[in-house]
Amino acid sequence: MNLHLQDKVILISGGAKGIGGAITRGLIEEGAIPVIIDPSEKEGNELIALAKGKVLHLPWRLFSAADCQKVIEEAIRCFGRIDGVVNNAGVNDGVGLEHGSPEAFANSIANNLHHYYSLVHFALPELKKNKGSIVNISSKTAVTGQGGTSGYVAAKGAQLALTREWAVELLPYQIRVNAILPAEVYTPMYESWIQSFANPEEKLAEISKRIPLGKRMTKPEEIASMAIFLLSEKAAHITGQHLYVDGGYTHLDRSL
Ligand code: NAP
Repeated sequence: MNLHLQDKVILISGGAKGIGGAITRGLIEEGAIPVIIDPSEKEGNELIALAKGKVLHLPWRLFSAADCQKVIEEAIRCFGRIDGVVNNAGVNDGVGLEHGSPEAFANSIANNLHHYYSLVHFALPELKKNKGSIVNISSKTAVTGQGGTSGYVAAKGAQLALTREWAVELLPYQIRVNAILPAEVYTPMYESWIQSFANPEEKLAEISKRIPLGKRMTKPEEIASMAIFLLSEKAAHITGQHLYVDGGYTHLDRSL
């Protein structure tokens, strides 16, 4: 299947490691031009080498609207166009109801949500010109809860709501907006979470056992395949959707 992503300029926040890194790699394979926004220098340099320079790495941690505006200006300055945005950067920062504070909650929302809005806001004129595609990486925690992580889960829920909201608002421009909900994907973030348990290997085996399809974690590349399909014109009639790429973890009977 030719996805026709050759020379399309796609922004990926948190695009150097984990799920975002896999999306960047997949886009490089398709001949697209990824714009990686991620502070990770080492992984960013590896991706620059892989893309043989057909890439832009902005080693920045997104927080403010001004950061996002700068990203869009740089992407346009370098490549003259933007065809897609993958909002992916986020951190499950453990700001809970009991163990948290209103200030920490506001900070967590800014860290996990505000840049999703701002990147798309500033990219919009370009996306309108090119009938672009937007992919929001949310989380199954938005629909199941997790406990102890109010800020992150509120942001993940809002990302699902904004996916529908933007899909409606952007219909006149044929800009498509979809969300992916990963559940258990082995990435650097997941690795550090699992290492916080007294017996990480036991905990990982216990979680894997509960994943219906194959009793294994989802691979970052499996999330990337869905994201890249959604970015492509092969997904031309898909918009406003919440797609679960999770081996059936969220919906299937776990006693099976
Ligand atoms: P990851 O392994 O931590 O990779 C994320 C990358 O994004 C890291 O390189 C990180 O840099 C960077 N990053 C974080 N905040 C950033 C910011 N504000 N601006 C720019 N870059 C930033 O995470 P992941 O597991 O791949 O998660 C990616 C997305 O999937 C997140 O939105 C997460 O909520 C979602 N998700 C993941 C899972 C899972 O099982 N892994 C499940 C559900 C949802 P640093 O390492 O320097 O912070």
